[in-house]
Amino acid sequence: MCVCDKITALKKFNKPKDIEVVFVIKKLKYGNTNTFFIRETGGGLLVDTDFAGTLPAFYKAIKRCDIKIGDISYVLATHYHPDHIGLVSELMKQRIKLLLIDTQKPYIHFADEIFRRDKRLDYESINIDKSIIISSKNSRKFLENMGIEGEIVSTPSHSEDSISLILNNGTCFVGDLEPIEYLEAYIHNVKLKKDWQLVMSYNPKIIYYAHANEKTLQ
Ligand SMILES: [Zn+2]
Repeated sequence: MCVCDKITALKKFNKPKDIEVVFVIKKLKYGNTNTFFIRETGGGLLVDTDFAGTLPAFYKAIKRCDIKIGDISYVLATHYHPDHIGLVSELMKQRIKLLLIDTQKPYIHFADEIFRRDKRLDYESINIDKSIIISSKNSRKFLENMGIEGEIVSTPSHSEDSISLILNNGTCFVGDLEPIEYLEAYIHNVKLKKDWQLVMSYNPKIIYYAHANEKTLQ
């Protein structure tokens, strides 16, 4: 029995005769950041990792959730703050490909200095040459090849490189986007308002945050 939170959403297929297929997403927590794993027919996508140095905890978490390292084809970071990408370079060494959105490219080494200050971490920075760079515009097609129906959009209010992954079944992963409940409190934050307008235009059913609890929308 997997002790991680298992998120199950329903996905509708029109062929051959309106079968409802269970679409499973796993929420992994092995530090301070919620990270997610989406398994589909064309491969598995990991959304975010925790801080550098959490690899042993990550291995334990995936084992508990019945995920093998070979099940993870790609890793996508919602943005390049240290608590979201600490394991990316380690995972790339294990043949997991980094899916990098073009708007994230200038920020890929944002955390390097922070990690280097802690010698115990023995941090190796991400090799950009080994990443797969796509634009948000091409993300739907890319995900489709993995069997994932959805899109990656730029939501830059938290940081310029922040993105959100929005699935057709209404599941959204927004990383560190300020929770929607706080929107009123940030009335003058035009960028935040714009991000939420974009996310809400997809009629999401559930929002997964990197640090807050998920929010189900009516
Ligand atoms: Zn952040």
